[in-house]
Amino acid sequence: MDAAERVLAYGGGWLDRAGPLRADPARLEALLTEPTTVVLPLWRDRCLVDGDGPVRLTADRTSLVRAAADETVFLGLDGDAAVFAVDLSALNERSAVEMVGAARAVDVRALVGRLDPAEAAVQAYARGLLHWHRQSRYCGACGALAVAGGGGHVRTCGGAGCGRLLFPRIEPAVIVLVEAPGPPDRCLLAWHAGAPEGSYSTLAGFVEVGESLEDAVRREMAEEAGVTVTDVTYQGSQGWPFPAGLMVGFRATATSEEVRVDGVELLEARWFTRAELRERVAAGRQLGRVDSIDHQMLGQWLTAG
Ligand SMILES: [Zn+2]
Repeated sequence: MDAAERVLAYGGGWLDRAGPLRADPARLEALLTEPTTVVLPLWRDRCLVDGDGPVRLTADRTSLVRAAADETVFLGLDGDAAVFAVDLSALNERSAVEMVGAARAVDVRALVGRLDPAEAAVQAYARGLLHWHRQSRYCGACGALAVAGGGGHVRTCGGAGCGRLLFPRIEPAVIVLVEAPGPPDRCLLAWHAGAPEGSYSTLAGFVEVGESLEDAVRREMAEEAGVTVTDVTYQGSQGWPFPAGLMVGFRATATSEEVRVDGVELLEARWFTRAELRERVAAGRQLGRVDSIDHQMLGQWLTAG
């Protein structure tokens, strides 16, 4: 789904991540003083916004902010302009907001639709990377402090005789649109535990250690919905750094219409025709979060028949 991939929220490769620059701390330090450089301040997973959207600080305004920041990370290049993010999570909310001249702190997901897609993608990237730093201060092997380096894309354990490298972790999950084995065309949607009654979405689950993505699809569908699936086909993926997800979309075909939910993760699962789904949309029901890959996969399925 190459064409569609461009419109998935939080993706699109808007920045040149300029990986080789991460190995040049002197160059990164110099870039932080360039007049074209942009520094995005975040506070505890939230963007700091003023009336025009997320605050973008220029180099002349960053020395105070950097002194208060837990981390400064290099995100990449936007044309010739370097883009950094700083984490002001050590401050209280009011201090962080006032320091950068913002009006409030907001989750980027609450701004989707109003925010330029490139800006949303960069904010999500910054959020995920800074979140990882806050969760990865210490080495999990020896407990010593780990120090950020590589432009903020690695931490190195400072423990004697350890020196372990810690990289940002990503937690892949599969999102699956299961189709019925025979006519009429139907897809399987589920009411997930914790979701409002009557809200149905695609089935999903985390990939486990030692599994392929396809293995995870087959296991999750069997465990959660009692459905055996075949023809597991990749549809696309979406970075979901809230805090560390990678959503990988698949279609699969059930071998039987029989469904048996686990009652833990899924409270109900049932087959929907396109007409039924269109009725739900007409009645104002969302098919998944508007910024999510499952929303897009369901939209594509609806328009395919
Ligand atoms: Zn260590």
